[in-house]
Amino acid sequence: MKRYWLWLALLACKPCAADSPLPLGDGKIASEPRVGYVYSCRTRFEAGGGAFRSGPWLSGQNWRPELKIAVSGEVDWPEARVDIRLSGGERIISGNGLPLHASGEFPVRRDDAAFDYDRNPNAIAPLRVELRLPALPRPTDSPACLGMGMIGIASSGAAIFNALDAMGRDAPAYEIQDRCDGHPERRGRYHYHTASRCIGDSAQDRHSDLAGYALDGFGIYGRRGENGQPLSNADLDVCHGHTHAILWDGVPVRLYHYHLTAEFPYSLGCYRGTPVATGEGPPEPGWPPPRRHRPPPW
Ligand SMILES: [Zn+2]
Ligand SMILES: [Zn+2]
Repeated sequence: MKRYWLWLALLACKPCAADSPLPLGDGKIASEPRVGYVYSCRTRFEAGGGAFRSGPWLSGQNWRPELKIAVSGEVDWPEARVDIRLSGGERIISGNGLPLHASGEFPVRRDDAAFDYDRNPNAIAPLRVELRLPALPRPTDSPACLGMGMIGIASSGAAIFNALDAMGRDAPAYEIQDRCDGHPERRGRYHYHTASRCIGDSAQDRHSDLAGYALDGFGIYGRRGENGQPLSNADLDVCHGHTHAILWDGVPVRLYHYHLTAEFPYSLGCYRGTPVATGEGPPEPGWPPPRRHRPPPW
């Protein structure tokens, strides 16, 4: 009987644990690799841009993701393209940066509740993406800092940015994203700062699925570790990753990889390998190339 009540108490406590407030990442910017921080290439941040008002999901030094509103709307992007192929030791990812899932409506509409906090005036636009990542990346001795643009690409074709907004604050806490956790920056690049609810992760009692690739070629996985336990910064290294056996292009291999977490810095803390140039630019006539009729190996 005693055991019954213990289980009941544990079950009842599960939702409250999931809803506990998260510490804000404001000020967690480092000039060297550090657990729980963003090792940022940019060290000076300016006021202005992004969210101009704090919502009720922010209180003191904490925020509650489950209370945060999302930009409304349901805009489909049938022209979205992302193609991945392996060639000569490289993983070549090309696409137009549009998400394979629906997005919210941007620029944020005046009658959208999000307009009271973040008047994102940017429209989502296609941008040429061609990444030539090492197919089997190697860690370097000294991790590299994260820039303010794309630091990785998600399986949805959207970019992954670091955890900071233009003012150096905790971007997911202040900026208003859509229901897929994405929004566009000034050039129209659609991006996430956290795990996207629109990228499936079937893991429950096992390691999370691959959610994307960082610019150094290492994989970015969902929030669960080897036995399915949700990971925190304490489980990960300064760059927000760890090394163990994973299935990499269908082959079991012991390899470094990043994890998304519920807590700041959410995705990467630094690059464990050497990041490649993004090759971003305006779309050109005939871009993207015709789509291959095979599913990408996500
Ligand atoms: Zn952003
Ligand atoms: Zn792992």
